[in-house]
Amino acid sequence: MPTTSDKPQLFGTNGIRGVPGRDLTVEFSMEIGKAIGTYFEVPEIAMGKDTRDTGQMIFNAVSSGIMSTGKTVVDLGILPTPAVQYYSRMRSIPGVIITASHNPPQFNGIKCIAADGTELERTGEEEIEKIYYNKSYVPAGWENAGTVISDPNAASVYVRGVMSRVDVAAIKARKFRVLVDTGNGAAFSTTPTLLRKLGCSMVTLNAFPDGMFTSRTSEPRPENLKDLISLVSKGGFDLGIAHDGDADRAVFIDEKGNFIDGDITLSLVVKSTIKKGDRVVTPVSSSDAIDEICKEAGAKLIRTKVGAPVVSRTMIENQAKIGGEENGGIVFGPHQYCRDGAMTVALILNLMALHKKKISDLVNTVPEYHIFKTSVERRKEWKSLEPQILRYSGSNLLDRQDGLKIYLEDGWVLLRPSGTEPIIRVYGESKMKKKAEELALEYHALISGLQEEPSSL
Ligand code: MG
Repeated sequence: MPTTSDKPQLFGTNGIRGVPGRDLTVEFSMEIGKAIGTYFEVPEIAMGKDTRDTGQMIFNAVSSGIMSTGKTVVDLGILPTPAVQYYSRMRSIPGVIITASHNPPQFNGIKCIAADGTELERTGEEEIEKIYYNKSYVPAGWENAGTVISDPNAASVYVRGVMSRVDVAAIKARKFRVLVDTGNGAAFSTTPTLLRKLGCSMVTLNAFPDGMFTSRTSEPRPENLKDLISLVSKGGFDLGIAHDGDADRAVFIDEKGNFIDGDITLSLVVKSTIKKGDRVVTPVSSSDAIDEICKEAGAKLIRTKVGAPVVSRTMIENQAKIGGEENGGIVFGPHQYCRDGAMTVALILNLMALHKKKISDLVNTVPEYHIFKTSVERRKEWKSLEPQILRYSGSNLLDRQDGLKIYLEDGWVLLRPSGTEPIIRVYGESKMKKKAEELALEYHALISGLQEEPSSL
């Protein structure tokens, strides 16, 4: 586990994650609640959760800790992560979400939201960790202990907020027929409600809360969406939609049953929302198609390290209109500065409505690029490998903000040591499918070779 000082860092890139009863115990969760309540100097803190079976248990522990510091907890119930963030932003109060996003059902997590709806910055998380380790909680005493109130309007406020950003009349006029797979996750009600209000006729799949994710795993990859893909491919639908467990991401299936890569969705949304002078933010790992689209529109593209919080933060700093990652996580600045699955759904329907085109025709308007992703075991320190890789790559252009991105004649290669596993991720992109694979495999072989033990002879 990475350390900030001599104590383990508790918050990872997406909050505190663990298995309840093992490392994410109720005792620990309550102490974290006390630390969160002490850190946020406000009278109220909003709280929501995804559909996991352990959600209520962790919610109760964290909220008890928060109430012991005199803060009132606003219980929003089961909601997508972006709906809790939207509520925080609308009411200017911080929030806590009990979720493990797309992780398997045994996991759960605690994620903190700043009062502007964005994920709490690392400095804030460090303060919470400091309070936790020093046990410097500020208890309120019985006479000032907080309580729980609920706000049943959070879901409808969120859906209305999403709708306010698109041309509802144009979408309604098209009477889209959609198949939506909410994967038994947090959007089981909000996304179907949104689709109904947008005049879609819909068939839902896995649209009931099931914290065991019995029907499919909560990561919306094509191999986990076989039911959705096979049903859409039978015909009769304009679009297939799927979310991850906490619905901050959305992925799409075209009317023929083809899975649409996240890079293409991002390209489509960027293309349809930007104009000259706008700013767009995306990590070094996403496609050059975005560069091409921005160049053509006269918009400025800013590349960042990989990770949703850094994309959102960079968007705020640069007043960017749109940003996102290649995994279906799209951030639409005018709505809110966080990944938002329902907003992404509405933007794609808006695009289909305004262009009066099928989704597959729109996909064909995106510049064609291919990314090949693989990984290689890391047996040596990344720092010792870097100079050797640089010697090999010669004088090619580099982006060094997250690993090594090497621009080559026919594409690029990105080599990133994982922060959580002993592997190095290897990406290759090119306009030619074969070349993308060749580039990735060339550097995969290089890194493997550099880690070979020297001969004992
Ligand atoms: Mg998620």
